[in-house]
Amino acid sequence: MTMITNHMPTSELQALDCAHHMHPFSNQHELSERGARIITRAKGVTLTDSDGNEILDAMAGLWCVNIGYGRDELADVAARQMRELPYYNTFFMTTHVPAIALSAKLAELAPGDLNHVFFAGSGSEANDTNIRMVRHYWSAKGKPNKSVIISRKNAYHGSTLGGASLGGMVPMHQQGGLPIPDVYHIGQPNWWTEGGDMSPNEFGLSRAQGLEHAILELGEDRVAAFIAEPIQGAGGVILPPESYFPEIQRICDKYDILLIADEVICGFGRTGNWFGSQTVGWTPHIMTIAKGLSSGYAPIGGSIVCDEVANVVGSTEFNHGYTYSGHPVASAVALENLRIMEEENVIGHVQDVAGPHLKQKWEALSDHPLVGEAKIVGMMGSIALTPDKSTRAPFAATAGTVGLICREFCFANNLVMRHVGDRMIIAPPLVIQPDEIDVLVNRARRALDQTLLEIK
Ligand code: PLP
Repeated sequence: MTMITNHMPTSELQALDCAHHMHPFSNQHELSERGARIITRAKGVTLTDSDGNEILDAMAGLWCVNIGYGRDELADVAARQMRELPYYNTFFMTTHVPAIALSAKLAELAPGDLNHVFFAGSGSEANDTNIRMVRHYWSAKGKPNKSVIISRKNAYHGSTLGGASLGGMVPMHQQGGLPIPDVYHIGQPNWWTEGGDMSPNEFGLSRAQGLEHAILELGEDRVAAFIAEPIQGAGGVILPPESYFPEIQRICDKYDILLIADEVICGFGRTGNWFGSQTVGWTPHIMTIAKGLSSGYAPIGGSIVCDEVANVVGSTEFNHGYTYSGHPVASAVALENLRIMEEENVIGHVQDVAGPHLKQKWEALSDHPLVGEAKIVGMMGSIALTPDKSTRAPFAATAGTVGLICREFCFANNLVMRHVGDRMIIAPPLVIQPDEIDVLVNRARRALDQTLLEIK
């Protein structure tokens, strides 16, 4: 077989890709018509594709490359660890130094008594762990019927059977017989599309009270846990009204329900604190982590668990684990990523430099005729596209059509920005500099202008 390299013509690479590579969340027929974009290298916040285009990555890959691309330190650590101990497992009372060091570091960074880490290979796997862990916890406490996990419509918690069931994405549930039993979904705190005549805070309160209604309907003795992202990411970067999380916390405390914060996107600086729970003022019993944990340089995820849950779950054998739980190379890479984040004060950069600059520029997009609201926290933002700001009206065309047009114009302007329906979203690397933010927002504005012309 011929060597396949970066130097082959794009069309040949695309043909091979389409013939043999099944892509996640892609339509293979569409791929055969237009071919996949081929990214060949990256540095800082910039991707280079196989045609030599330099593209500003305003999505940090899939919300994960928090420290930016091309950090040699991580490559060096990975190579060193591969030479010393490329693999060993953490099953059957065994461990190794990278897993010890990373779990201790995460316990130090996590708030409160979140002192214990169960490692996985991804965010989806970690959420599967969470399902098994909270059910096992209640069972070990003599309450085996407390097995229902309440989640939210339009949430994203991964793509495994468990993760996709916890998620509230209808198109995912339509494939493969989901959700699994004992998962229940309540409404999301998306004021822009669902708030009607209520003020954002009235709406936030009423959506939080949806949790109480669900608990009362299902029975307190049936509900094990509530899971939510501090800020819904893949659902469209939905910032909850301020009234929302305090009420959620009150309800969970009142009914003795475990709280799972899915920090896969919000963790590791994305919202301007180490964890999104700190930004929204929420105290979880378990946090799901992945993505920014290693800045995407190695696949790793996990659950950070509070003392009480870890003690109960650890009092018997927990019949659960993954071959790659605490993988030594991934753990060493994650540890180096966290070292860089601390040493270079990446979170301070989000709080004091990049965050305020992006906020000012991003929110100014709300003067554009197509933009209803422009929201941002830390380094995750969204804009709602609308034909009528005053009524928050949706477009007459099928939902998502205008968002897709806008996303295509972003690509044409060498900007990766995603669309969720008719919401445009960004989550750039946390290390982005003010001049790069200016480029990002200028390209976004140009794409909005072109979209407006196209749909007129
Ligand atoms: N949870 C959230 C909030 C996510 O955004 C994602 C992925 O985007 C996941 C879980 C799943 O993580 P992974 O793709 O690593 O399985």
